[in-house]
Amino acid sequence: MFQSLVDALTGARRVTVMTGAGVSAASGVPTFRGADGLWKHFRVEELATPDAFARNPRLVWEWYDWRRQLIGACEPNAAHHVLADWSLRFPQFALITQNVDGLHERAGTARVLRLHGSIWDVGCWRNCAASPHRWRDHTTPFPVLPPPCPHCGGPLRPGVVWFGETLDAEVMDASLAATDCDVFFTVGTSSVVYPAAGLVDHARRGGALTAEINPDSTPASGGVDIALALPAERALPDLDRRLGPHPLALQTSRLSLRPVLPRDTAMLHQLWTDPAVRRFLWDDAVIPVTTAASVTSASANDFAARHYGLWSLYTRGDEPKLAGFCGLRSEGIGEAPELLFGLQPAFWRQGLALEAARAVVAYGFDTLGIPRIIAATDAPNERSARTLTALGMRFDRRDDHHGLDTLFYSLDRNESA
Ligand code: NAD
Repeated sequence: MFQSLVDALTGARRVTVMTGAGVSAASGVPTFRGADGLWKHFRVEELATPDAFARNPRLVWEWYDWRRQLIGACEPNAAHHVLADWSLRFPQFALITQNVDGLHERAGTARVLRLHGSIWDVGCWRNCAASPHRWRDHTTPFPVLPPPCPHCGGPLRPGVVWFGETLDAEVMDASLAATDCDVFFTVGTSSVVYPAAGLVDHARRGGALTAEINPDSTPASGGVDIALALPAERALPDLDRRLGPHPLALQTSRLSLRPVLPRDTAMLHQLWTDPAVRRFLWDDAVIPVTTAASVTSASANDFAARHYGLWSLYTRGDEPKLAGFCGLRSEGIGEAPELLFGLQPAFWRQGLALEAARAVVAYGFDTLGIPRIIAATDAPNERSARTLTALGMRFDRRDDHHGLDTLFYSLDRNESA
């Protein structure tokens, strides 16, 4: 069963995954209908409704305020991470979720279709004219329940879709469109809440291979092509491992070059934007200057990230170490991109530089078809100069780059041997 899924995924371009509460169970977010289901004394269907809120807004808010505190302390798990990586791996990937916890976004998944809203959004219960429909508010816990609308003073409501409310039409349309795919997964949902539960049938009727990942059997289990009775945090990493290295990865004897995955990008972006860390980075030159430039553009620009705008170089072995990065850079839309790379200073010294630079140059010219490759070394460094000129790279310029004395070398495809 696993192998037929792996085979289908290997050739797939359009992959859609719909998730439910089970995908967050390993993060410590309770499911609704599992053995440790939420909120023992109330039926969710009686609490998560507009009527319940109208009757007792404080009680409903106590529940959401408690869940926000609980979820705020949870981290994305291995299942969220694999799905975030897949959002870059497959050319057309869609993640539809019934979850309101925001853990897919925190794992770095590009574009999440949130069928049931977000627990981190709020809105004015009265829909007062001055307030937007929904906005983000991370206050936990709220000092007063229900929290007041900053515009009219009336009660705020959680930005989730309650039982009996209609789903956002745009999100629903996009979700239906995403059922037109090669492989459709339904993961960690009891498949009883409609219209979400109907999406898998839609996908199957449209010709997709359908698969369920859920340790328990559900109303969907009998209808899917493949039902994996496993927890998501085990099944998804297992599938991912069997898919093998990313198609846009390259390995040399001692290094592996692979696209930066969402979780790396989020981490690097955080490093780059934190002034204290940034000073530390410059002082200790942990990450070369080219990296930072590429990271900011890749994370600010979803397009760049989705098109593998950034790669990281790791040493191979049991304890891989980050050796450097390369990233695509273009002066403007339509301009031919350059591939910029930089190594961490320690690796210029360790004799890995030539292997790394050769790999990046071959990869840039041959695999990516990039016309120009630029190397940056973040301190005048004789070894790096020797390595780069040995590869035929030309000294281009010496610049003060973010306060760092940086040497740039370049090589054009038509000049390379
Ligand atoms: P549900 O509670 O009805 O069902 C959870 C399902 O996950 C069950 O079928 C269970 O067998 C399965 N499961 C438990 N552990 C799992 C694991 N480790 N891996 C894979 N599957 C696992 O949840 P649902 O189907 O998402 O219910 C829909 C409603 O619940 C939605 O309205 C959603 O907004 C809400 N909800 C959201 C969250 C959240 O945001 N994390 C949590 C609880 C409920």
